Amino acid sequence: MRTFTRDTSSTSKRLKNELSRSDQSRRRSSLRFLHSGLVLLSTFGLFPTFASAQNVNIKWDSRRAFGYLQKVCEIGPRVSGTTGMIKQRTMIIDHFRQSGCEIRAQAFDVPHPQTGAPVRMTNLVISFDSTAKERVVLACHYDTRPFPDRDRVRPRGPFIGANDGASGVALLMEMAHHMKTIRPRYGVDFVMFDGEELVYADFDKYFYGSEHFARWYRDNPPEYKYVCGVVVDMVADKNLNLFIEKNSWKMAPKVTQSIWATARNMRVKEFIYKQKYEVRDDHLAMNQIAGIPTTDIIDFDYPYWHTTRDTARSCSATSLSKVGRVLLQWLTELPIELGDK
Ligand SMILES: [Zn+2]
Repeated sequence: MRTFTRDTSSTSKRLKNELSRSDQSRRRSSLRFLHSGLVLLSTFGLFPTFASAQNVNIKWDSRRAFGYLQKVCEIGPRVSGTTGMIKQRTMIIDHFRQSGCEIRAQAFDVPHPQTGAPVRMTNLVISFDSTAKERVVLACHYDTRPFPDRDRVRPRGPFIGANDGASGVALLMEMAHHMKTIRPRYGVDFVMFDGEELVYADFDKYFYGSEHFARWYRDNPPEYKYVCGVVVDMVADKNLNLFIEKNSWKMAPKVTQSIWATARNMRVKEFIYKQKYEVRDDHLAMNQIAGIPTTDIIDFDYPYWHTTRDTARSCSATSLSKVGRVLLQWLTELPIELGDK
């Protein structure tokens, strides 16, 4: 992913993007859970609270989930079109097949940003309850950036992408074990985007996979409809801080609010109900091209972003577990009322 503006330093971008509390509360709107038919505004008026569904008994296996992250990292760099990416894809497909999921691959070619030679991209769509006509997308990118450009010492060193790449993959791999238990009302598709950042220079194109997926959905409407979506990116930082991403707030306020509300009900304090960064990520194509209200759960405070130190050592099983549990609980609480604020 990238920050919204191109020309300023990341630090100043981050500072500029901080939003005052009053500004934030002005923009807040209430949200209703249809299945409980109840709206409760908190006493302080700062945060909408909800009558939550019964907490489901989720036996999230932190060690197993983190094991997936390590396994993905052990492959090494997973740049689109490379053998590392092909290895990872085989591993992912095997995993979800064993879990009894339906898997579709969406392949397409793009010109390599440096040579112009075709690069084969493959999005993966993994379906649960595949006959359901109303569906939710949980997505991540599974390619890694070619180089750790922000590394001061080794900007052309190896980039493993433990948080920026593997964390989303590991999260969905573990979630697959729990989908039968939680039995969400909607069908669920896990979507893994290729080509999120086949980027060698800042002006290279991002988001090949999500844009392809979004155009396919817009131009060839399937029999089912995606009611909303969630993108996860960098969700395993040891020091997890999940602020509300600004584009998500603008484009998918209700989806965003509902997830942060679930986290609050579960007392997962790493979901911070405050806007901070404006990030361009795969959720933009989902919102703007596909018209699927989609939020981005992203820890943009990660100090090792695009450096050689984005390795499993900088990540935590606990962080991954927190995000996974919130998302599983949130899926059980759907549907929410979507649409305009
Ligand atoms: Zn990245």
